[in-house]
Amino acid sequence: MARVLLINGGSEGHINPTLGVVQELIRRGEEVVYFVAEQFRDRVEPTGAKVITFDEGKFLEAFLAGGRTPWARVGGLLRTADIVIPSVLEQTKGERFDYIIHDSMFGCGRLLAQILDLPAINSCTSFAFQQNSFDRLQDRLSHHFPADVNERAQQEYHQLVSTMEAKYNVQIGSAYEVFCNPAPMTIVYTSKRFQPDGESFDETYKFVGPSIVPRTQGQFDFSAMDTEHLIYISLGTVFNQAVDFYKLCFAAFAETKYTVILSVGRQTQIAELEDIPANFIVRDYVPQLEVLQRAKLFITHGGMNSTSEGLYYGVPLIVFPQSADQPVVARRVAEIGAGTHLKQEGLTAGELREAAERVLMDASIRKVCVELGDSFRAAGGYHRAVEEIFAYKRSLGMK
Ligand code: UDP
Repeated sequence: MARVLLINGGSEGHINPTLGVVQELIRRGEEVVYFVAEQFRDRVEPTGAKVITFDEGKFLEAFLAGGRTPWARVGGLLRTADIVIPSVLEQTKGERFDYIIHDSMFGCGRLLAQILDLPAINSCTSFAFQQNSFDRLQDRLSHHFPADVNERAQQEYHQLVSTMEAKYNVQIGSAYEVFCNPAPMTIVYTSKRFQPDGESFDETYKFVGPSIVPRTQGQFDFSAMDTEHLIYISLGTVFNQAVDFYKLCFAAFAETKYTVILSVGRQTQIAELEDIPANFIVRDYVPQLEVLQRAKLFITHGGMNSTSEGLYYGVPLIVFPQSADQPVVARRVAEIGAGTHLKQEGLTAGELREAAERVLMDASIRKVCVELGDSFRAAGGYHRAVEEIFAYKRSLGMK
């Protein structure tokens, strides 16, 4: 059986979907070395993978250097090569791998595949992008910045490309290649139906649906809870410092028939929220899959994992995108009819409650959510991902 090098970054949303895949690869005899931020060691080790790690602080510093323009963000990913590449090479010195699986965004996987001369599989935890859709998005985001700022950022980026190409003896290619790390095969953890323009992707994209495995984090006692009218609210694990929004949720749903579970994340002190209404359960982290199996409505930031997990269990969504790919996901949710896309600015508690009631009452939204959940299950999840990986290996003559 083969030895696999898996390269990832330091965010839960990019790691969770890979856990089932790794567990299944190992169950079927593969040996996996998983490179990830140190803080996720405990999350990955139970899969049976050997975990090697990097320092997330240094990684983030590199990623965020250069500013917020779209070019600086792509450049930031490239700058992380200095944290990732030497560290992977040092920690795997003398080891032999048969193929690499890399995150579509974090970890410079495409560059490592070149350096190590390995067949590569791309693990895409958000919607997949093709060159044209990526270029359009990059162009749209650039309009938020003055032309001279964009121009400077673009020049810096091209300088950085030359430096990195010389330093690591690699071909970097376009910004699309840096940001999306295209590979001969891409596993996408959604269904073709939910993926925007799903039919336009060729056979190298494998839409396997969400890769959901039970998790052990954040146990919860549901026995004393009225889950008949359960609303779940979370802005995910990254862009979740939103005390005003949480207080708006208090005002919207206090003293109503709803039980509300609010996950505020580990960056907000629950004490900052002051008076928590009696029908709210507020935690810094909850077992989201368990909660979603009982929730009637999910108020989410539109992280791809949260969105997929909600839809997997047929839960209608209200999406408040915060950053990253979330606006794209929010638009897709609204477009396909699985819920509503709202903006926080200027929203009153009354408007939030009304929106929640509208979505809760809407039978057509519920129907779409159930259908999408079915499309996700039919896509096969991590079992199908591993089937596709094995088929790819066979196509290369690998055992
Ligand atoms: N999550 C969880 N409990 C929480 C908050 C988040 O289990 O209280 C998990 C959630 O199930 C999902 C991941 O964290 O798998 C968040 O990923 P997502 O892509 O939705 O958002 P991000 O955190 O990357 O913004």
